[in-house]
Amino acid sequence: MKIICIGRNYINHAKELNNPVPTEPVFFCKPDTAILPKKNPFVYPGFSKDIHHEVEIVVRINRLGKHIEEKFAHKYYNEIGIGVDFTARDVQQQCKEKGLPWEKAKAFDGSAPVSPFIDISKFNDLNNLNFSLQVNGETRQSGNTGDMIFNIDRIIAYVSQFFTLKIGDLIFTGTPEGVSPVQIHDKIDCFIEDQKLLSFSVK
Ligand code: MG
Repeated sequence: MKIICIGRNYINHAKELNNPVPTEPVFFCKPDTAILPKKNPFVYPGFSKDIHHEVEIVVRINRLGKHIEEKFAHKYYNEIGIGVDFTARDVQQQCKEKGLPWEKAKAFDGSAPVSPFIDISKFNDLNNLNFSLQVNGETRQSGNTGDMIFNIDRIIAYVSQFFTLKIGDLIFTGTPEGVSPVQIHDKIDCFIEDQKLLSFSVK
């Protein structure tokens, strides 16, 4: 199983990090060891002093595919969830400055908490979904999938030009603005519409 993450997929988030708005999807991967096991806390890693939450809608692939046409992309998933793309912003900044890959900052153990997955028939329109993240009960990030630069089907078409998508692969679809640091003892809750789907603490 692999985890593919889309970067800079919301204009206001690209701007808050002073990144250019992309003309084609930017993506990177996390290994399966990045998944935070159920009921575990997120353990603040010792190599960073600036861990940021990035709440994202996550798509679960349910069919093998390569070179998927955008018009057929909807046949390759039937569940979505919500996840956090934890990022060591200080380490990422050092990597960016040196022109090095981001894996140290993005792909470490536990850096991808993800909720249970829900059948997409439960939602009216995947291109108009509200989602949010709270820290200690206070909303820090809220977004709507309608603001994605590249929607789910476009992402699948693009990524599958490079990677064969396999059953169980996850795609993190990008984060809206409002990323901010977390601290030890914080409680994180993530919602799609009004439904709390993911909850964990920082230890
Ligand atoms: Mg992200």
